[in-house]
Amino acid sequence: MTNIKHIFFDLDHTLWDFHSNSLETLAEIYRIFELEKRAPDFSSSHFIDRYVFHNERMWGLYRQDRMSKSLLRKARFEYALRDIRIEDKMLAKEMGNSYLEICPRKTRLNEGAIEVLELLKDKYALHILSNGFHETQLIKLEQSGLTHYFQQIITSEKAAAKKPNKRMYDYAQVHTGALPGESLMVGDNLEIDVVGALNYGWDAIHYNPDGDKHEYRSVKALLEIPELLLK
Ligand SMILES: [Mg+2]
Repeated sequence: MTNIKHIFFDLDHTLWDFHSNSLETLAEIYRIFELEKRAPDFSSSHFIDRYVFHNERMWGLYRQDRMSKSLLRKARFEYALRDIRIEDKMLAKEMGNSYLEICPRKTRLNEGAIEVLELLKDKYALHILSNGFHETQLIKLEQSGLTHYFQQIITSEKAAAKKPNKRMYDYAQVHTGALPGESLMVGDNLEIDVVGALNYGWDAIHYNPDGDKHEYRSVKALLEIPELLLK
């Protein structure tokens, strides 16, 4: 991987600890809106489980362009509330807005994120390549002190395409000047980050903390990335 000049990082679940940040936010929202009073038969963890289920399902639809951003943001709470027997579209909307206010300001990063960026920043051009919403990703990067590491912050909203669509990589190349033989993608999603980039002619490393078995190059910890780059 000695020809690599540009490294594109996914943000959610790769550098930014989406899981912890999101769970913290959901627990806060549950308290703010006093759901324990409105749905005494259910626990906050049950509500959070239902939210996570609907959110993942709807993100799948969003990725396939079968659901809009605005519908996703509102419907994930509407469905989770319905699962604890609260039918309240207005409440769902308010909770959705609070989530968007609070969550991107959370600052937990995956272990080794800052150390890896520090180690790589002088040798490579670093960029973000994310399917997340643009303004949300900018807040996350700023709040968690990551913005200055990246030359380009490319989101699917800016590119008008989503990973693994070829147009997303076309856009990334045009805006960074990166060539296929010089580009490496690092991300947690095998299909979207790794296979998508490889199909386009980039190199890729799967950030795979769970140690899923597959044929692709992967690391369990972010700090293994600098070592792999020397090979
Ligand atoms: Mg990700």
